[in-house]
Amino acid sequence: MPIDATQPYDSGNIFAKILRGEISAKTVYEDDYALAFHDIAPQAPHHVLVIPKGAYVSWDDLSARASDTEIAGFVRAVGHVAREAGLVGEGYRLLANVGQHGGQEVPHLHVHLFGGEPLGPMLS
Ligand code: 5GP
Repeated sequence: MPIDATQPYDSGNIFAKILRGEISAKTVYEDDYALAFHDIAPQAPHHVLVIPKGAYVSWDDLSARASDTEIAGFVRAVGHVAREAGLVGEGYRLLANVGQHGGQEVPHLHVHLFGGEPLGPMLS
């Protein structure tokens, strides 16, 4: 069920629990600003989620409230994960769903990183 991204941050959400180590995930990268791990239900041969360490519901929330340092750190982490996965040459797709119309289900900002095959015009 897609969330209302205007609601306050829910510290009990599943990605907050992954950040706190309460739920395991297949981590591929971590730094001061971001954590990246494999999606539990991959929609491409390479499907990783990159999340900020800060408590931000969505891309909208991050862009409105985060410090420039946090935003830069997060954006750099997304690029780093793609490069480390060897996806830059063939290309990849980034996607951040926001709120109900965006189909966002987990109320902690996450950028999907898809790659490993030609992805077509859109993922459903
Ligand atoms: P959204 O629709 O909110 O953009 O995407 C949420 C994503 O989180 C989905 O692709 C879903 O498969 C993934 N996901 C949901 N729960 C878990 C979980 O517990 N662990 C991991 N690794 N991924 C999850």
